[in-house]
Amino acid sequence: HKVADIDEPTLPATMSVENPTAPNAGCKIMTFRPTMEEFQDFGKYVAYIETQGAHRAGLAKVIPPKEWKPRRSYDTIEEMVIPAPIMQVVTGQSGLFTQYNIQKKSMTVGEYRKLANSKRYCTPQHKDFDDLERKYWKNLTFVSPIYGADISGSLYDPGIEEWNIGHLNTLLDMVEQECGIVIEGVNTPYLYFGMWKTTFAWHTEDMDLYSINYLHFGEPKSWYAVPPEHGKRLERLAQGFFPGSSQGCDAFLRHKMTLISPSILKKYGIPFDRITQEAGEFMITFPYGYHAGFNHGFNCAESTNFATLRWIDYGKMASQCTCRKDMVKISMDVFVRCLQPERYDQWKQGKDATVLDHLKPTVLSSPELEHWRKNRVTFKEKLLRRSVSHAEEAAAASAEAGGGEDSAGRGGGAEHGGVPAEGGGSTSYSKMTAVEVKKSRRHPFSKPPMRSPLFIVKQEASSDEETPSALPGGGDIEQPVRKTDHLWQSLMPNFLAECRFNAAMATIEPYCGVCTLFCPFTQPQDNAALLMSHRGTSTRPLVPEMCFSSGTENTEPLATNSHIGDDGTSLLLCCSSCSLQVHASCYGVRPETKQEGWLCSRCTTVAWTASCCLCNLRGGALKMTTDTRWVHVICAIAVPEARFVNAIEREPVDVTSVPETRKSLKCIYCHKATKNICGACIQCSYESCSTSFHVTCAHLAGVVMKPADWPYGVSVTCQKHKQTIQKPKPGSRDISLGQQVIGRNSDGWFYRCTVIGIASQTLYEVNFDDGSYSDNVLPENLMSHDCLRYGPPEIGELLLVLLTITISSRSIQVEFLDQAQILLKRSEIHTLEQELPKRVMTAAAARDCPSPAILFTVRFPRQWTMTPQFCMVLCCFFYDADLLFEPHCLCCVLLAELAGTGWTGGRDAYLLVTFPSLL
Ligand SMILES: [Zn+2]
Ligand SMILES: [Zn+2]
Ligand SMILES: [Zn+2]
Ligand SMILES: [Zn+2]
Ligand SMILES: [Zn+2]
Ligand SMILES: [Zn+2]
Repeated sequence: HKVADIDEPTLPATMSVENPTAPNAGCKIMTFRPTMEEFQDFGKYVAYIETQGAHRAGLAKVIPPKEWKPRRSYDTIEEMVIPAPIMQVVTGQSGLFTQYNIQKKSMTVGEYRKLANSKRYCTPQHKDFDDLERKYWKNLTFVSPIYGADISGSLYDPGIEEWNIGHLNTLLDMVEQECGIVIEGVNTPYLYFGMWKTTFAWHTEDMDLYSINYLHFGEPKSWYAVPPEHGKRLERLAQGFFPGSSQGCDAFLRHKMTLISPSILKKYGIPFDRITQEAGEFMITFPYGYHAGFNHGFNCAESTNFATLRWIDYGKMASQCTCRKDMVKISMDVFVRCLQPERYDQWKQGKDATVLDHLKPTVLSSPELEHWRKNRVTFKEKLLRRSVSHAEEAAAASAEAGGGEDSAGRGGGAEHGGVPAEGGGSTSYSKMTAVEVKKSRRHPFSKPPMRSPLFIVKQEASSDEETPSALPGGGDIEQPVRKTDHLWQSLMPNFLAECRFNAAMATIEPYCGVCTLFCPFTQPQDNAALLMSHRGTSTRPLVPEMCFSSGTENTEPLATNSHIGDDGTSLLLCCSSCSLQVHASCYGVRPETKQEGWLCSRCTTVAWTASCCLCNLRGGALKMTTDTRWVHVICAIAVPEARFVNAIEREPVDVTSVPETRKSLKCIYCHKATKNICGACIQCSYESCSTSFHVTCAHLAGVVMKPADWPYGVSVTCQKHKQTIQKPKPGSRDISLGQQVIGRNSDGWFYRCTVIGIASQTLYEVNFDDGSYSDNVLPENLMSHDCLRYGPPEIGELLLVLLTITISSRSIQVEFLDQAQILLKRSEIHTLEQELPKRVMTAAAARDCPSPAILFTVRFPRQWTMTPQFCMVLCCFFYDADLLFEPHCLCCVLLAELAGTGWTGGRDAYLLVTFPSLL
């Protein structure tokens, strides 16, 4: 251990450090031209370019010496197979896009080259790079290019020592040598065959590693890069435009699906630089350097990841995708233990407070790294040693007849700082017989979403939608409404009722009448809650800024709002006249606005009879339209064609583009009651579902509305599709043979029944020649392949598929008390213990009852009072349970029952409502 003198990288004299403080302050992408001598040691050269500040751009170019060639000839690769080419489908607009990679059938490089140069896919005529770049961002949603990406392999001739992507000999080798883990594309090389417009989305490397990319031959590759010191700004911008993805995953950029144009980056002040890589040139990306780019035409590149000592702290801090199981994660244990031993214990306890310094260049080596290099043994040797020592231990243990704990995980401590063991050292030697191989996809496969295009108004469902499970038509909410609150526009305005409603909305977190769009509506618990005013406090708005500018065609996206504080919160203002409470930012007023005596737009205008032109209910946050009518802010957000003319002030709202087709949709919640068609409905986002509802009706009914990715703004899931989407994953918990459950019989009613069969299906993923894709093809629908006789088809095999199928991945056969046996989907079955949607529980029908009878237990919240909203919501609870009856009857029955019991709303009351065979 006498190596204290190699803390500083030892560099050749020619690589002098010009400005040792902080070079490349502008974070520009630098280009280096090493001499053959400088080109010999890869690690040393990377350390050198960092002393020049190359890493501050996140990306650097290295042009190898002229005499250097990694391969003598590329003539012999025509027969090479691209096993899983991907078709890159891009959706989006105005510089913000989402890319989906759909797997296609395999082809040879020769076939790919022909395709790339074909009329359909070839590079368009262009004057210069700027012209080509413009064409790229203008046309990327049109013809979907095919990319031969993520192919394991190298084109280096054997014996090439310099910058060999297959053997860079950096400390990333530890992962394989110490842990026996091979991650294809990370510590092995990947090849890429590109064509015009093939794209790599904005990303940093797995574990925020370095990467190296060599363009073997062909047309150039253009790159964009954001300096690591500004990476968080890119993440925030992306979160703003893709709130749906952001809510689903802490690090959704790791899905490598997000494309953001340079004009958007410029507009939102994200520092970035661009460069074009020509054939024969290397690009290096640095830890946490976001990069993206595209190919100009047919070309071939090779790349992999690598590490330096500086990376270790990046690896420890790297964000992780939280939504996908197959994402690559490297345990940092081995690196910290071997290379930062003095911090290991602290780090293990989670007390290692690392602050990343994006400016500091890496050191070339350290005593610990030298020690490891000198003493490293391969994983195989280690296994051998361990199995020997384990055999000895086992022998000793069995001699004592006690059987000791497996100590393999810590066994090799004598060698050099312990044997790293993935997963806390519990892996026993017998399981560690092979090197573990994982695959990291730069281009993860994905399917375009099932949602319908933005401006399509889906027409009435076809008859097959009208199965008994479909939502019943609207409810007659008129009667209770007439008795109490007067919020329906069809009734006389009742300002007091509106005030009560506004005050009630202000009790739901985050206490804003606009954010309420994204919170499930709940009846206020009691009057105490109503008195709890949050006015003057600040909470975090739920409506992303983008929602105020999305939806309309060709709009300028906008993601920054000066009205939101640096901490992301906004002041709550309460109208002193109508009790409406809103975030200053959500309502578009300056945060310094005086709270005392603040009046909302409608009260300022003394428009007591104001009502929203896009829905059927009064109350809530209103703004004026361009034609001096009124509209709910939430209706304007969720109706795609409505547009905030001044997006910052949220007014006026232009509703003139709302099409007649949308205005003539029937709201499933209020159409029956009001009999007239008014306002404009939004529709369920699910595929072709045409279920329509007013924004406010849907909100009160508890329909799930969530922020969605650009350009959608809002995603809406009707009650029916909420069930299909949120049903438990097949195979998880529940349902077993012989189990008593509640299932829907052929008459649409629910009865107690017994599970007599469960079928779980083998399904195939198939790419069709027209570019479409399916992941649920049944074996019997593969016409050209007899799965029964020959077993599953080979991956890549050409198949003929029968296409008349709709299937569920799991079907359950049940037998009812009347001996009827039918096949049900999992979503059509409820277990007896299961709490049915929204606190409604059903019990079974009586055996001998010729027509159905159902017993309900309704649990009322504390301090409950009957209001029209509650009545309506209650009806919707029952819609949820897929039960068919007229909701107005239910309301009446409930009211009657309550009147009969003399119950006045105490604590946790239970009410049994028995329905006669016919309501
Ligand atoms: Zn994720
Ligand atoms: Zn708000
Ligand atoms: Zn007001
Ligand atoms: Zn409205
Ligand atoms: Zn309605
Ligand atoms: Zn739906």
